[in-house]
Amino acid sequence: MKTPRELKVKPIRNGTVIDHIRANKALSVLKILGLPSKESAVTIAMNVKSSQMGSKDIVKIEGRELAPKEVDKIALIAPKATINIIRDYELVEKGKVNLLDEINNILKCQNPNCITNTEEPVITRFYIIGKGPVSLRCYYCERIMGENEIESQL
Ligand SMILES: [Zn+2]
Repeated sequence: MKTPRELKVKPIRNGTVIDHIRANKALSVLKILGLPSKESAVTIAMNVKSSQMGSKDIVKIEGRELAPKEVDKIALIAPKATINIIRDYELVEKGKVNLLDEINNILKCQNPNCITNTEEPVITRFYIIGKGPVSLRCYYCERIMGENEIESQL
């Protein structure tokens, strides 16, 4: 009997592996990062088994590390994601995204009458009211923003 040959994914030399992404959200993560692009090779695994999460997505990006603002955005759609930074084939840093209790100055409030959408110099501020999936409440007008609205802005 033949044993199935495993498809080998080459290890990356320098770059980032984002693991524990909520299943089927890998493409949203790529969108946040402005990928695919000519500069970075990207490997995506979607809906793979996870002991912690049931199923998850994984994204490997060659030659790219993430900016703090990108990590904050990823937290909004994949609050359990882990970020592994690889340099010269070695794992040099392993961290989790950190979904803060307050999201400031990243998203716009969808309420056209909200003070943050007027001429006033007020930055947007949202409280996290749900984490799986993430939902937010505007600090100023209390409008609630669901996952689809959040994602459409990232
Ligand atoms: Zn508002």
